[in-house]
Amino acid sequence: MPLALPLGLFLLVAAAAPERYDVVLRGGRVMDPETGLDAVRDVGIRGDAIARISAEPLAGARVLDARGLVVAPGFIDLHQHQQDAAAYRLKALDGVTTALELEIGVPDVARFLSERAGRSLIHHGAAASHPAARVAVLGAPLPAGAVVPPAGPATDTPASPEQVARIRDTLRAELLAGGLGIGMGIAYTPGATRAEVIETFRLAGERRVPVFTHVRSSGRVEPGSSIEAVAEVIAAAAVTGASLHVVHINSSGARDALECLALVEGARARGLDVTTEAYPYGAGMTAINSAIFNPGWREKMGLDYADLELPDSGERLTRERFEALHAAPEPRLVLVHVNPDAIVDAVIRHPLVMIASDGLGPHPRNAGTYARVLSRYVRAQQSLTLMDALRKMTLLPARRLETATAAARRKGRLQEGADADVVVFDAASIADRATYRSPAEPSVGVRFLLVAGTLVVDAGRIVDGVVPGRGLTSDRGTPAR
Ligand SMILES: [Zn+2]
Repeated sequence: MPLALPLGLFLLVAAAAPERYDVVLRGGRVMDPETGLDAVRDVGIRGDAIARISAEPLAGARVLDARGLVVAPGFIDLHQHQQDAAAYRLKALDGVTTALELEIGVPDVARFLSERAGRSLIHHGAAASHPAARVAVLGAPLPAGAVVPPAGPATDTPASPEQVARIRDTLRAELLAGGLGIGMGIAYTPGATRAEVIETFRLAGERRVPVFTHVRSSGRVEPGSSIEAVAEVIAAAAVTGASLHVVHINSSGARDALECLALVEGARARGLDVTTEAYPYGAGMTAINSAIFNPGWREKMGLDYADLELPDSGERLTRERFEALHAAPEPRLVLVHVNPDAIVDAVIRHPLVMIASDGLGPHPRNAGTYARVLSRYVRAQQSLTLMDALRKMTLLPARRLETATAAARRKGRLQEGADADVVVFDAASIADRATYRSPAEPSVGVRFLLVAGTLVVDAGRIVDGVVPGRGLTSDRGTPAR
């Protein structure tokens, strides 16, 4: 046999040589909730995009063995408060490639984005913040580091028409700076009138971005029930044309969460763009000095002091302890035991419900939400199929964002041309380890995670020194089309 091939034959061989990709995920169970693909495939990644999905082996500069593992779109968390390097590491180990602060939003979207540009492990983004705009206009800006404003006149008194106009101006500027929607924590600004809420929705409708809202109140006592609160925002969406996303319907709906879900379902059946989300834990968490705990909260929510728990010590509160902490200026976080497991389980199973973590450091939902859904509902209870669980974590949140940004159409999908935000996990062992006592324990079972084509979790460990995360921003920089 001659050592050298004739030139023509050499060219033929070269042309038939397999294309090489930057990264190949070899032989995993590739799952895409949009197309329904659920099959063993190789995935070829070039740059920051999925270039090829193939039943035949692909060649790559780096080949990752995904045999026996699930290959899915990276999870999109619409509701992540803690937006720092420590949280991003926990999110990555929980399978999250995009973590967005949409419930409350941030006071300064441009600053939020610039502080994270070129420094972030995962993708991030934020809503324009109605609570922040309101308390700034009413003269008590959010203290540094606070997620929600402390209760006071700026949260509890009605704004004048002139103040409402200034709140709207602030929000409009924040949307132009890249806000993915308007975050409205109405429960934290009880002074916001129905008219102020509708004016805010009107702005969202004009800009074609969603309103993400923690509804006005919780519980069964009228007026002010969970059902009334959900009805308020559905009505605001109906009369303004704004899209609406009701955050954590598990905790806002509380004992009536399923009734609240029926309201969302009914609104959708009549053509309204209303969506919702939940996290898989029975306890909520919020700041004890916030307006949620204004007088009357026990009667309204059907809770008592002992339903409040300090996360670090496990101390259950008494009336005296509560009064002291509520009056203190520090935004101390407290666990609020609102729901029995049966309600949480029924909410998570509901086909309309997206998974979102409401992530905050001292609550296990920050680190464990996604792995918990996969271990508890898919594996242990078998109450969700794996594909349905993935849909709640990927495709549905991506679609929620599509009116605000076309970039969301390349996310939440495991398809050729989609962003290479990919999670590779072991469905047999993925599990949350974070608990109320030990909330910062990372989840286990995510073997690889790619963010914009860059490996950020390799063999179950965070890769040091990589910062591929990008800011996701609204592209609605021009008036409504
Ligand atoms: Zn909330």
